[in-house]
Amino acid sequence: MSDRQAIGPYLGSLVAFRRDIHANPELQYAEHRTAEKIESWLTALGMTINRGFGQTGVVATLRGTGLRASDPNCAIALRADMDALPVQELNAFAHASAVPNCMHACGHDGHIAMLLGGAALLARHPTFNGTVHFVFQPAEEGGGGARSMMDDGLFKQFPVQAVFALHNWPALPAGQMGVRVGPIMAAANRFVVTVHGTGGHAARPHETVDPIPIACSIVTELQRLVSRNVDPLDSAVVTVGRVDAGTVANIIPDTATIHGTCRALRPETQSKILAGVQRIATHVAIAHGATAELTVTAGYPATVNHGQEAMFMASVMKEVAGESNAHDDIEPALTAEDFGFMLEEIPGAYGFIGNGTDGRPGVGLHNPTYDFNDDILSLGATFWERLVHQWFATR
Ligand SMILES: [Zn+2]
Ligand SMILES: [Zn+2]
Repeated sequence: MSDRQAIGPYLGSLVAFRRDIHANPELQYAEHRTAEKIESWLTALGMTINRGFGQTGVVATLRGTGLRASDPNCAIALRADMDALPVQELNAFAHASAVPNCMHACGHDGHIAMLLGGAALLARHPTFNGTVHFVFQPAEEGGGGARSMMDDGLFKQFPVQAVFALHNWPALPAGQMGVRVGPIMAAANRFVVTVHGTGGHAARPHETVDPIPIACSIVTELQRLVSRNVDPLDSAVVTVGRVDAGTVANIIPDTATIHGTCRALRPETQSKILAGVQRIATHVAIAHGATAELTVTAGYPATVNHGQEAMFMASVMKEVAGESNAHDDIEPALTAEDFGFMLEEIPGAYGFIGNGTDGRPGVGLHNPTYDFNDDILSLGATFWERLVHQWFATR
């Protein structure tokens, strides 16, 4: 296991930084204060800062002192996300969110702090042969901040050989890390089915086309979509999270709407599932004399790790966390990540750092009592430092 003591002098200020960000969360594309604070930390380390990618994104560049450090193509990017969620925090500790209905319930405050810790270690001894771009992106939670930064020319202005990211993972004990080759998170799309019937009096259903039982049938049929269409060894999920119809008990409404999400690890499975939603909605509605209209919102692609980069990441995890604490074939999850956009264009890998559950099993990401575990800051910061040194040492 590598020496994690180097982070010692920075740990107090990193914990304070992380808790300050937790107490002052900002929603997607509004991460102004967060970006200011990140810029201050990195400027103090002597780094060049670029702002304005993806509205609130921050890019800091550190050139190593090695022979190839002046070659702009000999570079990698490390990415952290900055946004909080519209969740009312239920924690009572001193650093709980001071903003109503806004909370770092996904631990992105910790992602920022781990990367700033890695930046501090690297800036102190920049003896690597290349350039590192620290990328702090907005709006991971549904806003596609990674895509926005790329659309603003992130990788054109800062060409890189590879890009890496970490997510804190409560299902994994603190002290452990994991990654895998291939899909690690799912493609995700939201959909809305609107069933158009004909409304009327509740006592005269024969004069109406009641959209409510039709919507209920569509929801029931959707439950069979994955089980009868997806290879049992593949993974996908369709969930209806909201159904809206009607106003009062004695009126049959004109329409009913079904809001859902579908997710799959493989793009072809995702396409198959979306086609199935269309087929079921259309034909169940027709069977009952109604029509159905499907709207699919552009979503995130699957986060698909590249082989060499994922195995490289696993080797760094083994070095910093220890052989028995590093998993190179961790189970994927059907959560989604806009880092998938970056991996569509740039080789790289996305891994997990165990957050543990602090003795509270079931308190997972997006829970109103979630909190990033400060005990893993040193492991995360050391991981980023070692990853940079090893990348350029082996290339
Ligand atoms: Zn999240
Ligand atoms: Zn997250």
